[in-house]
Amino acid sequence: MRVSLEQAIAKLKQGEVVAIPTETVYGLAADATNDTALKKIFAIKQRPADHPLIVHIGDISQVNDWVTVFPEVAIRLATAFWPGPLTLVLPAKNHVSRVVRGDEPTVALRVPNHPLALALLKQSGLSVAAPSANLFTQLSPTTAQHVEAGLGEAIPVLDGGACNVGIESTIVSVAANGQWQLLRPGMINQEAIANIANVGLANVTASDEAGGSIDIDASQTTPKVPGQHALHYSPRTPLRLFNDRVSLNQACKTFTEAHVTCAAMLIGNGDAPSCKAMTLPDQPDKVAEQLYSTLHSLDAMQVDCLLVELPPHTPGWIAVLDRLHRAGHQ
Ligand code: AMP
Ligand code: MG
Repeated sequence: MRVSLEQAIAKLKQGEVVAIPTETVYGLAADATNDTALKKIFAIKQRPADHPLIVHIGDISQVNDWVTVFPEVAIRLATAFWPGPLTLVLPAKNHVSRVVRGDEPTVALRVPNHPLALALLKQSGLSVAAPSANLFTQLSPTTAQHVEAGLGEAIPVLDGGACNVGIESTIVSVAANGQWQLLRPGMINQEAIANIANVGLANVTASDEAGGSIDIDASQTTPKVPGQHALHYSPRTPLRLFNDRVSLNQACKTFTEAHVTCAAMLIGNGDAPSCKAMTLPDQPDKVAEQLYSTLHSLDAMQVDCLLVELPPHTPGWIAVLDRLHRAGHQ
């Protein structure tokens, strides 16, 4: 059910959930101070209670309502990247709902960079928890149609068009002493974070001092943090990952000969002669933007198997590789 901005605000104030657009993915929003409303998010998504939620706030001045300390490093990061796809995990004030923080001593905060999300936060005066508006472990939605297809027509949706970042935010935790760690890769990459966070730290790299390193093969090295799950962001159709086009084409031919139907997601020029394929441009930000909608479309083809060509294992592709490895983990 599509709703207007005014209707969305009214529902949130009544303790209802509403799917809202952000620049990353659509979020299933509820008032972050209302435990009854927050529990509806967990019930609808079938999300385990120990997976904390990200609180979306209207601007940086609200951070101190939620945290016991706002370390200098975190202030620099927020100033540089908000509104935008960066979530900061900071020490929580005692009053912050245990439901929203999944019983952690920390709270995750972000100012989203989407005009409708910002209008909703500013006009309502609310802060909203908003995990992706999909069932737990399934593909994240990047359009209002994806939300309705995944959660049903009864969910109120504020339609803000297609999300232009397309994958979930980068998550960085910052401790009271300023030590920081990358918890989830996103389109704001580790180098960009380190450049801002490590100002004044001479000759220190993110991995040997303040920041946690994240390896290019994120499937093996993703740090242990609450709510990170190997099987996440997955289409319903079984998905296989290939490091190069030659091995993908070979698998496609073998499957087709065995009457196993398949469809492929390719990156860059060329095609896959033996099966239907969707081709994405060879640029990380373009692939991120179109990643989930492409996987949603391939999933809807109702083939037996999806074949995905992995991008190169270089720093610019880390966030996309992370999502693809999780989608392929089954
Ligand atoms: P999402 O599933 O996109 O809503 O992102 C939520 C993720 O953010 C969680 O699964 C955690 O990995 C991380 N997160 C949120 N809140 C916290 C917190 N208080 N402490 C640590 N990580 C958090
Ligand atoms: Mg999600």
